[in-house]
Amino acid sequence: LPFEAGTAARAVVDLTAVRDNVRALGERAAGAAVMAVVKADGYGHGMLPVARAALAGGATWLGTAVPAEAFALRAGGVTPADARVLTWLCTPGAPFERLVSAQVDVAVAAPWALDEVAAGARAAGEPARVHLKVDTGLGRSGIMPADLPDVVRRAAAYEADGVLRVVGVMSHLACADEPGHPSIMLQARAFDEAAATVEAAGLRPEVRHLANSAGVLTDPRLHYDLVRPGISVYGHSPAPALGAPGDFGLRGAMTLQARLVTVKDVPAGHGVSYGHHYTTTQDTRLGVVPLGYADGIPRHASGGAVGVGGPVGVGSRGTARVLRVAGRVCMDQVVLDLGPGATERAGDVVTLFGASDGVARGALRPNAQDWADAAGTISYEIVTGIGGRVPRVHV
Ligand code: PLP
Repeated sequence: LPFEAGTAARAVVDLTAVRDNVRALGERAAGAAVMAVVKADGYGHGMLPVARAALAGGATWLGTAVPAEAFALRAGGVTPADARVLTWLCTPGAPFERLVSAQVDVAVAAPWALDEVAAGARAAGEPARVHLKVDTGLGRSGIMPADLPDVVRRAAAYEADGVLRVVGVMSHLACADEPGHPSIMLQARAFDEAAATVEAAGLRPEVRHLANSAGVLTDPRLHYDLVRPGISVYGHSPAPALGAPGDFGLRGAMTLQARLVTVKDVPAGHGVSYGHHYTTTQDTRLGVVPLGYADGIPRHASGGAVGVGGPVGVGSRGTARVLRVAGRVCMDQVVLDLGPGATERAGDVVTLFGASDGVARGALRPNAQDWADAAGTISYEIVTGIGGRVPRVHV
């Protein structure tokens, strides 16, 4: 795909990969419906195009964190007939009336939220669709099991009044990326008990949902009626220990590329970038890449005395290879030591990460996991962190 004139860097998002990944996840969770999690601008990939691709891959639900994301889906033309949309991170004063009017399902993740949702539904003049989000052990948002009986009793009263309907019971896993971790089945049991508490009050939710990507990929007992994969939709493994994306039939959707700003000869002993944490050991050629930490390139993936730099695929004129960032990642630039006699020129394209299984596996193109490894973080933070200055090109 040729670079558009004047473009220095871009994130190419392969929507076919998103569609195929969702399809693969749906097959793995056969019997459960799929909610593609598209919060945080589709994990940095562009929420609306990704949502469309996920629906084409068989997802019937879309998951968002904050209300603004759910509204953006509806405003972008995702109708209630296209997809159920759920939002699960509402603070007091959240626009519940508008959410109900926009046919967005709302998670009640704290006791206070039930009355606010009910008030919003009354104002909207139609019943809210509520998912009770229970803290079965994550220790984050969610109704504590001890508070659930009271919430359920009040929810049943609202339901009897036609103010809302409890359509879901949900929870989120803390350690699903560590198969066999004792907390996983403890959470599943607590989830079963929560669902039983809801049913005992005469409520009949349509869907129970617990599994994130790691839950979908590792244990059918966690699938219930609906699964909520996020990172795997975008073709990344929720944990390298579980396997590489290819092991699960997934492929990375985002390819981050840039064109070299300049290629220049420097002598041996030349310090590179702030602090001179990298110094050339021979007469060599440097290439400058116009992406930096303001674009989400983690400064912790600097290379030199302080660490192993993030990998960059360089592949001009028959010399394809993977290099490591030399010296500190700057706000807008990183530097590569291309080596003596390198054939690259200003304007040549380099690839920071792409759809391959990564450097560790001997593939030519690094992937987001390689950057995560270099920066001491997770692939989630790499892809969601790619800044707004980098145009997303959807193909
Ligand atoms: N469900 C909830 C409630 C979440 O907050 C998230 C993301 O953190 C997901 C599902 C998707 O998780 P993952 O990206 O690990 O699949």
